[in-house]
Amino acid sequence: MPELPEVETIVRDLRPHLVGRTLTRADLIRASVLRFADPATFQARTEGHRVGSVRRRGKFIHLGLSGGEHLVIHLGMTGTLTLQRRDEPRAVHTHLVLEMDDRRQLRYRDPRRFGRILLGRPGQLERSGALPRLGPEPLSPNFAQSGFAEALRGSGRQVKAVLLDQAMVAGCGNIYADEACFLARVRPDRRAHTLSRAEAGRLLLALPVVMREAVRLRGTSFSDFRDGFGAKGEAYEALFVYGRGGLPCVRCGGTLQQTRLGGRTTVYCNRCQS
Ligand SMILES: [Zn+2]
Repeated sequence: MPELPEVETIVRDLRPHLVGRTLTRADLIRASVLRFADPATFQARTEGHRVGSVRRRGKFIHLGLSGGEHLVIHLGMTGTLTLQRRDEPRAVHTHLVLEMDDRRQLRYRDPRRFGRILLGRPGQLERSGALPRLGPEPLSPNFAQSGFAEALRGSGRQVKAVLLDQAMVAGCGNIYADEACFLARVRPDRRAHTLSRAEAGRLLLALPVVMREAVRLRGTSFSDFRDGFGAKGEAYEALFVYGRGGLPCVRCGGTLQQTRLGGRTTVYCNRCQS
């Protein structure tokens, strides 16, 4: 699943190509991917509108349209959002095509259809619950003051579950939760309220570090991720623990443990993390 660094990579790729462009045609091929707003009004509310901004919040991509509505895209497990020439063949499972005034197309594709698209004013999307409440952003300069460490220590859940909760911290998923725990030397199956102030502080620092490094490497090339131009990322080779169960720990050389927490594959070092 694309997490913060992958979605950030797509947003940075697309922004210079989309901002200032006018959407000349909107083709909603599979209406069921539009989870908010009536598909019947989709074309009229997007065609002829200019893209004013391209931003990320958590794992959501927001295209701010002239007129004040946001076209919001969540990539789910297997979604991609790529910029393509009009004459390129359209891949199967393409559910939305937005054509711009430079004749290029933004194509949303999602084979497993866990992704979703929303269209509305930001306040309306939040009030309706279509956009969930999201916690602080690890890449924000204010993250250290966000209260995340205190909220973490106030939770009776396992650390991994807290890191995956989008209301606690925005954009973290399975890969970077494990990476942050390794860097912070905290076991992901610890009860969060048993963390010392120092341990919670290390996790608070580790989250932006692992996210920034992955953004620098343009995201993890695990499974289906593609950047805004359809290419793979490079961070997979640089991961400490994710996908490395049974392999040697890069820090101590011991064997990395792989287990399941809350149904999610989890990898950690039981020598380096306590
Ligand atoms: Zn180790």
